[in-house]
Amino acid sequence: MDKKEFDTLLEKYAELAVKIGLNLQPGQRLFIWAQQLEVAPLVREVAKAAYQNGSKLVSVLWNDDHLNLTRLENAPRDSFEEFPAWKTDARFNSMKRGDATLFIAGRDPELFKGQDPELVGKAARAYSEHFKPIMEMVARNSAQWCVVCPPTPDWAAAVFPDSAQEDAEGKLWDAVIKTCRLDQPDPVKYWQGYFDQIMVRGEYLTAKKYTALKYRAPGTNLTVGLPEGHLWIGGWDRTEGGITFAANLPSEEVFTLPHRDMTEGTVTATKPLVYQGSLIEDFSLTFSGGKVVDFKAKKGQDILENILESDPNARYLGETALVPHGTPISQLGLTFLNTLYDENASNHLALGNAYRFNLKGGTDMSEEQFAAAGGNESIIHEDFMFGSGEMDVDGILPDGAAEPVMRAGEWAFEV
Ligand code: ZN
Ligand code: ZN
Repeated sequence: MDKKEFDTLLEKYAELAVKIGLNLQPGQRLFIWAQQLEVAPLVREVAKAAYQNGSKLVSVLWNDDHLNLTRLENAPRDSFEEFPAWKTDARFNSMKRGDATLFIAGRDPELFKGQDPELVGKAARAYSEHFKPIMEMVARNSAQWCVVCPPTPDWAAAVFPDSAQEDAEGKLWDAVIKTCRLDQPDPVKYWQGYFDQIMVRGEYLTAKKYTALKYRAPGTNLTVGLPEGHLWIGGWDRTEGGITFAANLPSEEVFTLPHRDMTEGTVTATKPLVYQGSLIEDFSLTFSGGKVVDFKAKKGQDILENILESDPNARYLGETALVPHGTPISQLGLTFLNTLYDENASNHLALGNAYRFNLKGGTDMSEEQFAAAGGNESIIHEDFMFGSGEMDVDGILPDGAAEPVMRAGEWAFEV
């Protein structure tokens, strides 16, 4: 790709984030949370697109993941509860004002490899705790927000360890172009139509009022109970004020919230889970009464334990999502080591926080009401993949009858 082609690509990517991901409104401010300095070219292009679409102000908060590594390697061992609260304050204030938020990441999945898991865990907990008020606003879609992950050099090297650096970056860009449909003549138009389709599938599933889903695949035999009034959401998201947007680009999933106390059985992950710069691989979880009662990981067992110990509700599920096996992301057959892409390759579950908009009336409920209705609240929300081309999913109807939802990883019904 020459410079001109790359500039055109970034322009398309930025336009997609502004028009589809954020659906930025005339006059609305935009807050960009940039997780790496390496994403600067896209940040600048997004700012341009935002202003051209009438944004009054674009603010950028720059992070540098490498500084977090420097801290883990060098800072006093007892200092990891310290947190730069001004960063979360800035984002919180911006969200309170109703600004749209774009989160631009693309981090090295194993940046913290070999670091003391206890310190990594402490830093992650301090981060989650300070993010709690923000998570609450995000969870009820107080304003538009979107996550995009452009390739970065470290991330590309981690995905393609056997390629020369330049080739690795080129390959990762190719994968991102395909999955974000940036190769379509008009990506904005493409996603408009595609999200409309996914939404119809969600409406179909919601109307079925399943009481549970049963998942079967090698290593997985799991029943996930669904609460009354659960809503399947997919494609478009909607703010409290009624503005449509797309929180993830790309996104292929239709998802709802499980009943907090009604998951039973064992699930085996089909892709690694990347957690704050660490990798957990070949793991399985066993649930009883909704709670993880046993867990095993061939790699990253201590990190997995850290996640489960984040708070008392981290051992319960907050999301169950369906993604057909035939999407471009899974057809690439690539493990991106990045949840944004990997979660859209496969059926997945999330430990921790449930989204209130997945429950009828959920955004207006008190904490007690939401919990009583079966919703889980936690400082974490960690997606992990367990779908494959070998997975069958049944829906259990209110009268107890089972019907196919997916067979061999593909939808078993037409809409
Ligand atoms: Zn999901
Ligand atoms: Zn999720």
